[in-house]
Amino acid sequence: MSCDYKPTSYSNLDLNYLDKNISQWSQEKPNIKYADKSETTILFGGLTDISESLIEAAAKSLGENYLALPTIDNKSLEFGKIYGNRGQCNPTYYTVGNLIKYLVYLRDEKGIATEEIIKKYVMLTANGCGPCRFGMYVTEFNKALNDAGFAGFRVVSFEHNKSIFQEAQDDSIVELSPKFFLIVVKSVIIADILNILGYQIRPYEVEKGSTNKAIKRCEELIIEALKNKKSLLKTMLKCRKILERVELNRLQVKPKVMVMGEFWAAMTESDGNYHIHRFLEAEGAEVLNQPLINRILLNVWEAEYLRSVKEGVESNAVLDFSLAKSKFMIFLAKHGIHAQFNLYAKAIGLNGYKLPNMEHLQKLGEKYYPLDSNGGEGHLEVAHLIESVQENIAHLVISVKPFGCMPSSGVSDGIQSLISAKYPNANFLSVETSGEGGANFYSRIQMALFKAKEQAKEEFLEFKDVANVPRKVHNYKYAPKSRYIGTACKLLDSI
Ligand code: SF4
Repeated sequence: MSCDYKPTSYSNLDLNYLDKNISQWSQEKPNIKYADKSETTILFGGLTDISESLIEAAAKSLGENYLALPTIDNKSLEFGKIYGNRGQCNPTYYTVGNLIKYLVYLRDEKGIATEEIIKKYVMLTANGCGPCRFGMYVTEFNKALNDAGFAGFRVVSFEHNKSIFQEAQDDSIVELSPKFFLIVVKSVIIADILNILGYQIRPYEVEKGSTNKAIKRCEELIIEALKNKKSLLKTMLKCRKILERVELNRLQVKPKVMVMGEFWAAMTESDGNYHIHRFLEAEGAEVLNQPLINRILLNVWEAEYLRSVKEGVESNAVLDFSLAKSKFMIFLAKHGIHAQFNLYAKAIGLNGYKLPNMEHLQKLGEKYYPLDSNGGEGHLEVAHLIESVQENIAHLVISVKPFGCMPSSGVSDGIQSLISAKYPNANFLSVETSGEGGANFYSRIQMALFKAKEQAKEEFLEFKDVANVPRKVHNYKYAPKSRYIGTACKLLDSI
């Protein structure tokens, strides 16, 4: 067969392009009179359910009409595959497909005319540049919208690595001011705190479902406080009382499993990662999740790193005020995030939890991963694994990577084999999510989890006397420091 061979019959529609004169896809500027801002709904999504409800409430408190898309599922993936380009990474398929799925629902089930959907709805998404597909998200949305019959539907983006430093947009439909970003970041922080507490408390609850009920009640109170501009701090104190009522038995021996990897795949609580967190809990593990704020901290670190590189290159300049200004802004962002997190965490009773120290992770990762390769999570996946082994953080580290992810599968995983060889104690598993093959995904996790469970039991054997322990160990707020990994061992070690 010669290399210019072409099949004679194209029953597979995907290959229809082979016979056609193809040209680069480009988007024409539509001639549409869009609805006023007051009549427009801004769609967003792809985060955890709690993050989305709090962001929606926060935006509404500023008079912005935000609506979170329904949780991503495999139907979203189907829509993404039908209308998206070939060869995309999984988060692109899921997030793009989720929007199309919702618009089709509005059209076919709610009976809203396509023209009205196009005029009255906008999608807000993150965008960025760098050596991963993140830079192509908006184009991907537009391509799929076009092919699905929603040509002219607006997709507005903010640059994920600019956080609160977004530039004003010409299109006034979406407010991307620092004031808007500050309230969004605050909501993200509080949502993260609720999620972290959920993962810490749920595995030890005596009555099944009591944690979720309590977390839900807290979420409702926070939404109400955001909408009515009430004190969030006082609300977090109220939530503390609600969580205290969840009865716990924290002396159950459970392995701790850190879920990290590509940001979206590790963070989402959906079909996008086969509900990995829920699966691990059902299998008897305590999950260390990746909060959304970690991604924002990485963005701030990236901004600082780029600034320092630029400063080095331009060290002969007499005095560059723009660099000094960005240094000050980065300092404010970094310290502001830590201060806000600590404030709300303390109020609700999340003790002993530390946000990642990006400088420390940089030191751990830079020996193995070039810092200039900043696509995806950059050096962080490698650094998290090293930190977990050096500081006894987890019995098992799972790196979740979406099918087709260049930085995570292509680069980080190559380096992780070197790290695993250097740290033979590391119980590390890398799993890929493709939307299919869930059985294989689960069975690989079960195998790694078996080893983690054995390690957790072995650690617990050091404690002979587990009777007559003080009541305080069962309180979720009690979080002593200890060299042990497992929660039960940490608690027993402290008394
Ligand atoms: S990091 Fe990977 S999965 Fe995430 S957007 Fe980039 S290429 Fe896609």
